[in-house]
Amino acid sequence: MPVTMNDQSGMRGAFNNGMNFAELPNDDLYSSVYAFDDDERKKPRLRESLKSSSLEAYLCSDVIQGKDEEKELLWYHGRITRDVALHFLQENGSTEGLFLVRESTSRNGDYVISLIHNGCPAHFQIQCLGDFYFRIENGPLFQGLDQLVNYYQTSADGLPTQLKAFCAGDLPPSTARRAGRTTPLHRAAMEGDKDILSKILEHDESLRGHIDSRNAMGQTALHEASARGFLSIINLLLDNDANINCKNSSGVSPLYVSCSTKHPESCQLLMKKNADPTQRHPRTGWVPLHEAVTRGYIQCAKHLIMAGAPCHPRNSSNETPMELARRYNQPSLVSLLKNFLPPAPQIPVSGYYHGPLDRSQALERIQAHGLADGVFLVRTSPHKPRVYVLSMAASASVYNFEIQTKSENLYIDDGPYFTALEMLIEHYMKYEDGLPTKLTQPIRKPSSEHDNNAGPNSRPSHRNPPSDGVRAPSCVKPPPLRSPPPTTGRKAMQPQSAVPAAQKYPPPPPRVQSVEDQERPSSPTTTQGPRAFSRILSSIRGNEKKEMDRQRRELQKAIQNVPGGGCTEDLQVIDAKQISKGKELGQGEFGTVLEGTWRDSRGHKHSVALKTLLTDHMHTSQQNEFLREAKVMCSLNHKCIVRLLGVCVGPPMMLVQELVGMGSLLEHLLNHPSEIPEGDLRLWAAQITSGMMYLEEKKFVHRDLAARNILLESNEQAKISDFGLSRATGANNDYYRATTGGRWPVKWYAPESIYYGTFSHSSDVWSFGVTLWEMFTYGDQPYGELTGAEVIKRIEAGKRLEKPKAAKETDYEMMMECWSYKAEDRPTFYQLNLSLSKEELYQGFYHAGFGQAPSKRKK
Ligand code: ADP
Ligand code: MG
Repeated sequence: MPVTMNDQSGMRGAFNNGMNFAELPNDDLYSSVYAFDDDERKKPRLRESLKSSSLEAYLCSDVIQGKDEEKELLWYHGRITRDVALHFLQENGSTEGLFLVRESTSRNGDYVISLIHNGCPAHFQIQCLGDFYFRIENGPLFQGLDQLVNYYQTSADGLPTQLKAFCAGDLPPSTARRAGRTTPLHRAAMEGDKDILSKILEHDESLRGHIDSRNAMGQTALHEASARGFLSIINLLLDNDANINCKNSSGVSPLYVSCSTKHPESCQLLMKKNADPTQRHPRTGWVPLHEAVTRGYIQCAKHLIMAGAPCHPRNSSNETPMELARRYNQPSLVSLLKNFLPPAPQIPVSGYYHGPLDRSQALERIQAHGLADGVFLVRTSPHKPRVYVLSMAASASVYNFEIQTKSENLYIDDGPYFTALEMLIEHYMKYEDGLPTKLTQPIRKPSSEHDNNAGPNSRPSHRNPPSDGVRAPSCVKPPPLRSPPPTTGRKAMQPQSAVPAAQKYPPPPPRVQSVEDQERPSSPTTTQGPRAFSRILSSIRGNEKKEMDRQRRELQKAIQNVPGGGCTEDLQVIDAKQISKGKELGQGEFGTVLEGTWRDSRGHKHSVALKTLLTDHMHTSQQNEFLREAKVMCSLNHKCIVRLLGVCVGPPMMLVQELVGMGSLLEHLLNHPSEIPEGDLRLWAAQITSGMMYLEEKKFVHRDLAARNILLESNEQAKISDFGLSRATGANNDYYRATTGGRWPVKWYAPESIYYGTFSHSSDVWSFGVTLWEMFTYGDQPYGELTGAEVIKRIEAGKRLEKPKAAKETDYEMMMECWSYKAEDRPTFYQLNLSLSKEELYQGFYHAGFGQAPSKRKK
């Protein structure tokens, strides 16, 4: 997405998504960052146990024992869609408080609780705020899904009901848990048994567990090895993709643990392997250096700073390690920190300093570099010439961070103190440390400007040893900048983050706050929605041209705000007075579909179908769903697709469509099986592929292709209808109730739609295959009475729907190709269309190509 007005100013500490660690339930696991597990020490060593059993058998029995010991946690169901979840809940009796947890298909890392309240399903997003921190919107924060579910099992606290029984599934993913079981993997790491560990690691994850899973004490294997200084184990784990920065249940990394357990050799190795020394304890805001210094572990502190950890980070009370060293009477550490000379910075200030530049100019320069993550420059603000600003790109946006000064130290927000700009920049090139991303590529000032606006002197005085007695070294001055920022006395001008520093980890997507401009243009998409709707709905007055024009404008505005593709230009707004209603044609999700007549302004009469929006569906989200269909349909014009003639604002609001006289194909198949020659089936199939090719060309995915959504104009013309796209994945559960006869859309879904909620032209092709099958069985229910879950199992086992009697081998081959497991192996609508039109019987009345659908039959 291109950056236009979202040139954003940022605050480092604000990247916390409202996370408040004080909310975390407080219990023993937090009391210290690492504790040895005494129970574990009493058990026989792994090597002993393996004398009487093979490793394989031992791992197997451990997995089985795990499931048995953790029966109460088997509420997890992986990546299933809402429909499948709903189905499981219904299969399990829909009792009050029945629930399951599944992976969110809409946002990576999130999960969803699906539960039953008053007999109805409800779904709650569990937001992942980074690492293993979770919460339900507005609810308290938890470490791990286990802790979250446990909490809502004891009290509803905001949910409509307390969680009670669950649909039995699997254990939650171990990396999303706060604590788990101590597995053989952990034991081998704790016992320092490299041979056994490497043998365990040869086994599949399903047998040996995830390498980053936390044990009963909330530690990963890497934490355990780091807390014991088992270097070969650390190496082995890292070689097997252990996450070096993984948090234990106290929220700290293996590096932190190595510093708190006095294992300088672990500390050195982890730093060498690029562990991040800037990660903070979630409550105290301490980094490993604070921990090492306070405990007087000088070797750990040395390894940290020699490998590039900043010397003067701050905790949530703004204290640096040097201050703590003094307070806890660690003179050798005070002198280490005081006398340490960081290596000379590699990039001179002239490599990124641009002098006075306003935000939009900075934006332009960064945009000229493609907005790649981490592209940056440093400038002064024209409004505040004494303030330096870091402007950087991240996630296709530009952020501006004020570089503040205090006692001659430079810092950003609650980040570490630096004595020179180059050091600050190099730090953030090495570590993200609260910024939206690491700095990567400096932008050099255009050479044409170098003469008069030369940057600050690029020579930092980093050779001067810092003096004692201040919060951070003071005799190392910031580089003499052309318009120097205040060096003493003056408070930083940046408003403080509303959120305490300790809350800044982990950093989810940035939420930024302006530091320079107070007013920012509001997003064009945020203002209209609901208000526009109420205006539309309250303005049913006469048919004067003015009024209709106004309605048209309002409706267009409202429709423009409906997410998803489509157009509004050609949308006709139809005066309610021109409509007369007739008999019911069918039931739609949002209301009844009626037959009717529309007499247009020129007096022409049209037979129409009126899809109404019932007044109890007046919530904005439902109106959006309803209007989405109009938005898609009004840009479509094809013989094999039902035409939208216009929208009547009502009330009730109505989609006015061409009347497709014979109604739903499914009904027709069921009611007149003996009267339908199989030849007609192929003709309709060809027409459906023709319509779908057109849809594909228009870049729409139907998502609900099924016989119930094909309408017949005549025996020679089928039309695709029902473009309420979002309903297959959207927020409305009524959809499933609205489908008749237990027809689960799951049965029309491709595997990737079931698992990941992704829909594409290829998943439409899968649904087309099922539609073909419905046609050749004259309306049978796919997979009969099988449940959604059973259908999934069948598909996974390579089984497919059986060949309908009326289908020829070639028809069935076509269906089977549509049901290729991998989307890329399925034919395209173009190919399907081609082969249907190749059939000798149809060549006479089929024209390939868009817009010219087969409709004339040679007799
Ligand atoms: P929903 O989106 O709620 O599934 P549909 O668009 O599928 O609603 O319409 C429901 C039923 O109404 C259809 O099965 C069909 O019987 C009838 N219907 C819908 N549109 C038309 C139309 N244009 N002409 C004739 N009947 C229609
Ligand atoms: Mg329908």
